[in-house]
Amino acid sequence: HAKGCGKNVFALFDKKMNEHASERVTFLADLRQAVELEQFVLHYQPKVDLLTGKVTSVEALVRWMHPRLGMLAPDRFIRLAEEGGMIAELTEWVMRTACLQAKAWQEADLAPVRVAVNLSPFHFQRQDVKQSVCAVLGETGLDPSLLEIEITESALMQNDEYTCRVLSELREMGVTISVDDFGTGYSSLSYLHRFPINTLKIDRTFILNMTKSSEDQAIVTAIIAMAKSLKMQIVAEGVESVEQLETLKDQGCHEIQGFLVSRPVNAERVARFFTDEDHLQAHGAAAQAVPG
Ligand code: C2E
Ligand code: MG
Ligand code: MG
Ligand code: MG
Repeated sequence: HAKGCGKNVFALFDKKMNEHASERVTFLADLRQAVELEQFVLHYQPKVDLLTGKVTSVEALVRWMHPRLGMLAPDRFIRLAEEGGMIAELTEWVMRTACLQAKAWQEADLAPVRVAVNLSPFHFQRQDVKQSVCAVLGETGLDPSLLEIEITESALMQNDEYTCRVLSELREMGVTISVDDFGTGYSSLSYLHRFPINTLKIDRTFILNMTKSSEDQAIVTAIIAMAKSLKMQIVAEGVESVEQLETLKDQGCHEIQGFLVSRPVNAERVARFFTDEDHLQAHGAAAQAVPG
């Protein structure tokens, strides 16, 4: 009986594996179709200047409108798009949509706002990213100074000569270069300064733990000091509390992004932030003097 039982367990396991594999195949086919039919939408999350409380730029974050499963976050499909060879096409859709949106905002006489697009390191190493960027800018007519690209720290460290060359060319065109999720890799000051980087975005995990852990606080302090010595702009991502906001302000961080100001929202809703008002005032963080 024990043997029979074991066999059943194995059969069940086998069945699950097959189900899993066939689910993956279906999901991949769905994604392939989604890229073809453009079943995606961009949400935008503002970055806000800590001194003025005004929006400096917005980050485009892709969502998949799956016909059966509803709206899916990028963590569910970016990896699959890379493995399935669709990431270049998806990224081009994201870039084109984001650039068209930025152009539309500009034409609607809103203050020109820069739009940031995430580039997959996988894509960056395998395809001609510069050519894609040029094609999209040409096609949409967006001023390159209104486009920003976010590339992760780990992507810098692969094939660094090539990466440096491509980033320099983009930078020369006027595109802004940001390093995303900074602090999770192991790059040093001397390494970092070789790249034409405008902005460092401190990874959310350090911001999350900063107010509880003195080590994380020290890391944030060190990153800010380092970025400043390299004349880079510094953005803290994942800011959720007023306490984090105040600490970052005291540390001299330039900009914040996070749920405290806004979750990623659709184009129409994010445009409400493109005003002259101080978006930090509501959080008691206005730059006014404390009475007494
Ligand atoms: P990321 O570029 O580091 O983007 C930040 C992620 O953190 C976003 O998740 C955002 O919704 C979330 N976030 C922002 N503020 C807060 C906060 O205060 N608290 C918390 N808990 N989370 C916050 P999302 O949109 O799910 O994107 C996840 C990742 O997927 C992004 O990380 C980015 O690496 C990738 N991604 C998004 N869109 C694209 C894209 O178009 N192309 C590529 N290659 N990757 C993308
Ligand atoms: Mg990003
Ligand atoms: Mg990030
Ligand atoms: Mg992050």
